[in-house]
Amino acid sequence: MNLSFILNELGEDRENYFNAISPPIVQSSNFAFETVDNLRHALADEFEATLYSRGQNPTLNILRKKLAALDGAEDALLFNSGIAAVSVTAIALLKAGDHVIAIENSYGWTERLFKHLLHKFGVTTTFVKGTDYRDFENAAQTNTRLIYLESPSTLTYQLQDIQEVTAFAKKHGIITMIDNSYCTPLFQQPIALGVDLVVQSATKYIGGHSDVMAGVVTGSRQMLKKIFENEFMNLGPALSPHAAWLLLRGLRTLPLRLNRSFESAKIITQWLAAHSAVKEVLWPFSNTFAQTDLAQKQMQGSGGLFSFCLKDSTFEKIENFCNSLQHILLAVSWGGHESLVCPAIASVAAANYEVKNPLHQYIRVYIGLEDPQYLIDDFKQALEKA
Ligand SMILES: *Cc1c(COP(=O)(O)O)cnc(C)c1O
Repeated sequence: MNLSFILNELGEDRENYFNAISPPIVQSSNFAFETVDNLRHALADEFEATLYSRGQNPTLNILRKKLAALDGAEDALLFNSGIAAVSVTAIALLKAGDHVIAIENSYGWTERLFKHLLHKFGVTTTFVKGTDYRDFENAAQTNTRLIYLESPSTLTYQLQDIQEVTAFAKKHGIITMIDNSYCTPLFQQPIALGVDLVVQSATKYIGGHSDVMAGVVTGSRQMLKKIFENEFMNLGPALSPHAAWLLLRGLRTLPLRLNRSFESAKIITQWLAAHSAVKEVLWPFSNTFAQTDLAQKQMQGSGGLFSFCLKDSTFEKIENFCNSLQHILLAVSWGGHESLVCPAIASVAAANYEVKNPLHQYIRVYIGLEDPQYLIDDFKQALEKA
C-alpha cells in the first residue's frame, strides 16, 4: 500500500464526521445500539464492533488501520504503553511450563518481564546474544514456544538476522516476536521477513513529540483477535482516544522526522568518531559497525539513537561531559523532536563503576530534529569542558 495513502487517507471516513480533515476524538466510553439484535451482534464480536472503549473505539480504529498497513500486517492492537504491548502479548502467548528464547540486552523492562514476571508464573527464559542464528538453535528446547527479538537492540545495537531466525522458528513451530521501535516499519519490515508479531513503543517515533505514551502489536488477525478477546480485554491496557489522536497527528510527519533523525545521526556519528576524545561510536549505519552487511541487508535506514564512549572513561569525565551540555537534554526515552543524552552511569553508583565495562561506559545519544551543526557545537564545547 502506498505510504502517502496510508498516512493521509486510509481509515479516514471523513463523510462520517462533517468532512473534518483532522479526525474527531471520540471521547466516549460506550456506544448505543438501535436494537437488542444489534447489541447482541456487537457483544458476540467485540474485536470488530464499537461497543465499549476498553475494546475498540472509532478514533483508535483509524490508527489501528494505518499502523497495520504500515507493517504490511492484517491487523493491529493498540496499547497505552509500549511495555503493555510487549507484556500483554507475551502473557497471552505463554503458559506455565513454556520456554522462551529472548535476546540479552533488550529494553530493560522487557528483560524484567522474562526474568521476573513470567518466571513467577512458571515460564522459563534463555537469554542469547542472538548475533548468530545458531544461538537460537542451541538454546531451543522441546517446550520452546516463543523467540523474542529486538533488532537492533537499543542497548548494544546488536542485530539478529531476522530471516534466518524466523526460518528456524517456523521449522520448529515456535512463534516469533520482535520489538521494531528503533527502525519503525519505514526502515525495517519484520512481517515480510517472516516474523509473526511486531511490537513498537509508539511513544518513540510514531508519537514523535514526547507528549504521548502508546504501544502497538501487529500480526495476523487470527492471532490478534485471540489475544484481544482474552488477555487484552481482561488486563485492560486500552489506549485513550486523545492519545490515539496525538499518534495520528504524529504519523503525518513520520517519514520526514525519521529521515531527518537518520541523516543528522549520520553526520553527528561521523563527527564524534573523528574526535580525539572519543574512543568508539556504536551505530548500525556507521562504517565501523561489526554487522554492517546485515544492517544493509535488512534495514533501509537507521534510527537516530546511538551510543559512544570516551577514551578517558572515568566516572567523573562522563558525568562532567553530560552536565556540560547546554542544549541537548539529559533524559530517558527517545524518538521525539528533541535531542537527548542518557549515560549508562545514571544507573550505576560511583562505587560500583567498572571503568573497563562497556555497558558502564556508554553514553547513549538520541538525535532529534535540530540543526545538526547546532548539536555538534554543543557536543564540541561539552567534550572540551570534560
Ligand atoms: C521505550 C521502549 C519500550 C517501552 O515503551 P513504553 O512506551 O515506554 O512503554 C520498549 N522497547 C523499546 C526498544 C523502547 O525504547
